[in-house]
Amino acid sequence: MKVTPLKDVKPYKSGWKVHVKVLHSWKQYNPVHGDTLEMVLSDEAGCKIHASCKRTYMESKGRLLPVGAWRHIQNFTLSPSTGMYRATDHPFKMSIIQNTAITRSPLINEDMFLSLVDFQTVLSGSLKTCFLIDVIGQVVYLGDLETIQVSAKPRMKVEFTLRDMNDARVPCCLWGKFAEILYEGCSKDEEGKPICLIRFAKIGRFRGELQITNAFEASLLLINPDIAETAAFKQMFVDEVKPLAICEGRDEILDLEEVKSIQDKRGKWMLFPKRTIHGLLESTQVEKCLVECKVNAIDSDCGWYYFGCCTCNKKVVKVGTLVKTIHGKEVTTHLWWCEVCKDNVSNVSPRFKLHLIVKDDTGETKLMLLDQIAKGMIVESAATLLNGSFEELEDPADLPDAILAVVGKTFTFGISVEKEHVLYGSEIYKNSVNLLDNEEHIEGLSTPSTTPSTKKKGAWSDPPRDITSTSKNLRSKTIKVEKMSDLEAEAGKKT
Ligand SMILES: [Zn+2]
Repeated sequence: MKVTPLKDVKPYKSGWKVHVKVLHSWKQYNPVHGDTLEMVLSDEAGCKIHASCKRTYMESKGRLLPVGAWRHIQNFTLSPSTGMYRATDHPFKMSIIQNTAITRSPLINEDMFLSLVDFQTVLSGSLKTCFLIDVIGQVVYLGDLETIQVSAKPRMKVEFTLRDMNDARVPCCLWGKFAEILYEGCSKDEEGKPICLIRFAKIGRFRGELQITNAFEASLLLINPDIAETAAFKQMFVDEVKPLAICEGRDEILDLEEVKSIQDKRGKWMLFPKRTIHGLLESTQVEKCLVECKVNAIDSDCGWYYFGCCTCNKKVVKVGTLVKTIHGKEVTTHLWWCEVCKDNVSNVSPRFKLHLIVKDDTGETKLMLLDQIAKGMIVESAATLLNGSFEELEDPADLPDAILAVVGKTFTFGISVEKEHVLYGSEIYKNSVNLLDNEEHIEGLSTPSTTPSTKKKGAWSDPPRDITSTSKNLRSKTIKVEKMSDLEAEAGKKT
């Protein structure tokens, strides 16, 4: 029998033969037929159909249809697809019957046949809610894993927010095992913000608000799926955690693109709400915010630098020093163990790791700044301050003047409040601090502060090593003068 594309099968006969992949299957309780096996099938053209197999045929035919397999299916009935939970937009639904023949196919095709819908479209309200959709997004806010009594039975529930590549955000709510999978996925993800693919998701409403939920058991949830979309998201995230004020040395010239990108990032941060330190400590949700505060002291107990592997940037541990005599000269080589590279490495460099105690009128907290951010605040690099030494710190209290210079200064930090702060009450905001700017440049946007804005001395005095000094460098390149002044005009509007 000839193979017919899924889009052409119709209910007027049962003598069809199709070539399909089983994309998903789940068991469903039906009051008339008892348990049924429900499936979503796709043909090579990506046309999908919902198929159902009654309990009677589950053993003989259902087990021949495992997820991921390609099969030829011959002889089946079709009926109009109805209801509020339609897994596909095919007008008909397939039923496996007594004389349905299922045979293997040699085809191997890993395509998931996703039908992703962007959030803008979801939020527009233009979609018919009876059709289930595929969505992919990054978890940007995670609520508690709650147990709710539904018809006197406990059910797990979690609310969260997903954002898509365009930063459109939709509220979501998952129930039962989906809630647990998502919650666990977030705690296992390095950043607590995994990429979440929900297939066959339901667009619902909760208290009048649009919300994406699971369609009972019909949905499929994948955390950080190994697909191109995940990689793209992760890349976007990497860009985001880069510091906003990238302060290059005065001799280095950033190109226009880079300047623009810094301004874009700064602009994005400006959209986040301002919080006091008290507000930050009381925060009950994962979020980003701006905090203007004064550096009260530097906690030197953890030191101020570490050595990082030049290959992977992770912290290395010193394992030994090798002194060789080559051509009558003593050559010292330091050896380090890199846990990430799983090897002894010799190519390492010192980086800043500062623990600042910051305060405002409402409270005090600790911020940990890694090299990228600290570099924006300290005039000298960690390597310069160490003057070529590869020794461990002997006296933690002995802080270089260039570092002490930040004490007493006021900065505005962009801070990501992460799950660990919300759930476990951790008060050290590590890996989450983005230096926005010193107060001189953020004045116009700041909430009234008791710290009078005065001209800075020391580290921040003339000229500050930030975007302004970079643009001065750019100005020396005559070709870029015109474009640069446009940028400055734009930046002027922002501040
Ligand atoms: Zn390494």
